[in-house]
Amino acid sequence: MWTIGAVPDAIENKPDFSAASAFRFDVLTLFPALFDGLKQESLLGKALQTGIVELHLHNWRSFATDKHRTVDDAPFGGGAGLVLKPDIVVNCLRAVKPMNSKSILLSPAGNLFTQQTAIAWSKLAGITLLCGRYEGFDARVDDHVDEVVSIGDFVLNGGEVAAMAIIESVARLLPGVIGNSASLHEESHQAGLLEYPQYTHPRDFEGAEVPPALLSGHHAQIAQWRHRQALLRTALRRPELVNHQTLSAKDAAWLTAELAISRANTD
Ligand code: SAH
Repeated sequence: MWTIGAVPDAIENKPDFSAASAFRFDVLTLFPALFDGLKQESLLGKALQTGIVELHLHNWRSFATDKHRTVDDAPFGGGAGLVLKPDIVVNCLRAVKPMNSKSILLSPAGNLFTQQTAIAWSKLAGITLLCGRYEGFDARVDDHVDEVVSIGDFVLNGGEVAAMAIIESVARLLPGVIGNSASLHEESHQAGLLEYPQYTHPRDFEGAEVPPALLSGHHAQIAQWRHRQALLRTALRRPELVNHQTLSAKDAAWLTAELAISRANTD
């Protein structure tokens, strides 16, 4: 079920969450067609087909009131670019946001979105994502949303790619979206560490061999190897994440030794 922006449609479709069990994403954007691929492909496409997830697209331009369908204007105080008008944005939000949906304005100046955010939001009934373009939103819109969120310390041209990243990371946590939900538990960031390295066939790839521990068939040994490799990888690539971990004395000693070896190797 796709709704692209028309006002009567949006109002007609204001959902009653008590009847629906699907997780509902609403996206407010100037470029709904950017979501065409996402809607059709892979796990999200399937989740939409089976009704685990709904994605409703709304076009800011449908809420413009002049004959040129203007949604933006020059910034007060001068400067480059155009700013999305608060009246258009807030009218659209009021018309299309389902009552139980959390509204999220996308901005590089927002709170950082992380795996923990995705986990928390996956337990909600739905989220409404506001995608900016140009110079972004009039600051007064912030008071009309539940949260202002950034997907990282870089600047995109628009909120659509950020919305897609959020949709995918939230949707894959919903029951039934990923075939083997056990695979979710050991992933990077789920438990505060990066994931351990994974290997498949061939055993010898251009002289690089699969670590023997993984071929041992010994479950405890494999689990210990993976845990320690996750620690080592995190310490090397994202040291700030390891500080939050409580390590056993043995793991801490092992990690210190490994880090010394890897430092010696890079010197
Ligand atoms: N002038 C703004 C940037 C505007 S970028 C500033 O410096 O803060 C245009 C739009 O792209 C934004 O309104 C936002 O919706 C989206 N966007 C860009 N980078 C983003 C990021 N890191 N996270 C989330 N949304 C982003």
